[in-house]
Amino acid sequence: MHKQKRILITGGAGFLGSHLCDLLVAEGNDVICLDNFFTGTKKNIINLLEKSNFELIRHDLVQPIFIEVDEIYNLACPASPIHYQYNPVKTVKTSVMGAIHMLGLAKRVQAKILQASTSEVYGNPMVHPQKEEYWGNVNTIGPRSCYDEGKRCSETLFFDYHRQNQVNIRVVRIFNTYGPKMHPNDGRVVSNFIVQALTNQDITVFGDGSQTRSFCYVDDMVEGLVRMMKAPDDFTGPVNLGNPMEFSILELAQKIIRITQSKSKIVFNPLPQDDPLQRRPDIGLAKEKLQWQPLIELNEGLRKTVEYFDEILS
Ligand code: NAD
Ligand code: UDP
Repeated sequence: MHKQKRILITGGAGFLGSHLCDLLVAEGNDVICLDNFFTGTKKNIINLLEKSNFELIRHDLVQPIFIEVDEIYNLACPASPIHYQYNPVKTVKTSVMGAIHMLGLAKRVQAKILQASTSEVYGNPMVHPQKEEYWGNVNTIGPRSCYDEGKRCSETLFFDYHRQNQVNIRVVRIFNTYGPKMHPNDGRVVSNFIVQALTNQDITVFGDGSQTRSFCYVDDMVEGLVRMMKAPDDFTGPVNLGNPMEFSILELAQKIIRITQSKSKIVFNPLPQDDPLQRRPDIGLAKEKLQWQPLIELNEGLRKTVEYFDEILS
């Protein structure tokens, strides 16, 4: 008989976590969503609350928790610069103590555990595009360090628990991901520009807009996370997941104005300190090991995201 898996998703009420909950509940797993609602919201998972194979726990991952599960997706951590810089000490605690608590749980109950790491571990990269073997160029003492170094330390913890305690780990480095269920005040570039365009406010490009990012639609990302969890046990990662098409921030602003047919003007604000100037994943490893690559190109993904924001803002 097929045994129903018990799956814990920390940060499950956030943007990525709520899409992952949707998918894993639909697959018939027993899903436990854990969140402290710092940046996540109950609205993101309201459609799941009535399901018999879904449970919600309000809990802060800085504190340990004892439950029985088969798999853990560790996503709890604010991801937008304005939110992770709001209380930087707490951001480090969430990344580091959260990882220790989840790895301790995985060790005790022998669960498989996946860490949502980030392209930020590469910092302002001197190697382009970024491959997994690149060690990164990260400021240890800047305003972004609480997030970047917190995530780097959690990767270290994952590999130490793996070597020392044989914990079954998977580490994915997620590049900029966007889509429906981003919070309108999330502060990241795609949601900011779409909300600004739909409400005919100025579009706030930071710097001259020549810095680049590579944007992955959420459905592609969630598929990649699940494939990594299902991959053979000897593939720990780290593995890059992201869309290798690269765009400047100015191009992104122009695309969003075109799609929304907005009257908004582009204005140029100062570039935040340590803002990476370029970012694009090399996804060769994910293609080879997971047979994964993104299928949704930026125009299509932006249209779906605009539709979502149009609905929630009206
Ligand atoms: P998000 O801010 O929407 O989700 C994070 C969730 O974690 C929220 O629901 C928040 O309330 C919860 N959380 C924060 N601190 C917590 C704590 N101490 N205890 C319990 N819950 C806590 O962000 P997201 O985009 O969904 O990101 C999810 C994960 O993926 C994060 O770990 C992030 O670092 C990683 N990631 C995301 C991206 C991206 O582009 N979306 C890129 C790289 C990495
Ligand atoms: N950005 C911008 N305007 C905004 C928000 C962000 O020009 O209103 C820029 C930001 O400076 C960065 C890029 O868009 O160069 C991506 O920023 P985001 O906060 O989405 O993610 P990250 O910097 O972590 O990749």
